[in-house]
Amino acid sequence: MIVTSRSANALGCTSGSWKIWSLSDGHVDMPADLLRRGPGLGKYPVPGTSSVLRLSVNCFLLEQPGTPGVLIDCGAGGRWEPSLGHLDRTMAEAGIDPSSVGTVALTHTHLDHLNGLITRDGRQAFANLRRIVIAHDAVTLFADESHLERFRPLLVPVGNGDRLADHLSAVALPGHAPGHMGYVLDSGEDRILFCGDLIHVPAAQFARPELTWAYDDNQTTACATRRKLLREASEAQSWLAGAHMAKPGMGRVVEEGSGYALLPIA
Ligand SMILES: [Zn+2]
Repeated sequence: MIVTSRSANALGCTSGSWKIWSLSDGHVDMPADLLRRGPGLGKYPVPGTSSVLRLSVNCFLLEQPGTPGVLIDCGAGGRWEPSLGHLDRTMAEAGIDPSSVGTVALTHTHLDHLNGLITRDGRQAFANLRRIVIAHDAVTLFADESHLERFRPLLVPVGNGDRLADHLSAVALPGHAPGHMGYVLDSGEDRILFCGDLIHVPAAQFARPELTWAYDDNQTTACATRRKLLREASEAQSWLAGAHMAKPGMGRVVEEGSGYALLPIA
């Protein structure tokens, strides 16, 4: 991947015929004791951290000439802290027209990933949105969000391995939430896995992938998925792009000691 533009909240790169954007929705401060020593175990004190962890919230836009953009997650909109819900501002900063987005692909239905369908000031964020890709197992959770009722006809359920576009397919990443889904782009030059909430605390969970997050729906499964994905990503020298990895949330995974490290995109 070659970085072609960088601003305070956006990073643009190219890979093959694709343009890939990391777009910040903002950040959220979470209690540090949500990080646990392992599935079902007590809290893990992150070295050098006070009682609060600051999590980036990143969205990723995939563009190919002549086709509508695919946006992976769309931030929190106006449904969480004022420090979140700024994807529209970031798109303006990067010179991206939100009406170029034709697909939103959700990793899961937690509020910081789907509520950006509606902007903080109540507008429909993407005027030409044609489909919302979502895991089969997450459809009923989406349907529970009554304020998003108008979007239900756009839902396109997918399963592991289903293809969204040329070079782009869904990959199941079970554990964090029902139907937690990643998306993998094989551009011909790079393999990039958009891994949603595989990692919440990059400062700790690359080195110690056994550490779990209290909001992981099934901590044992989430832990196993994280170990498997980090091993595969380091062996294949593929890229990871994570919703809560430090902005811009992209890098390569390498083995380090008994765990891994992230080499952030240059
Ligand atoms: Zn999240």
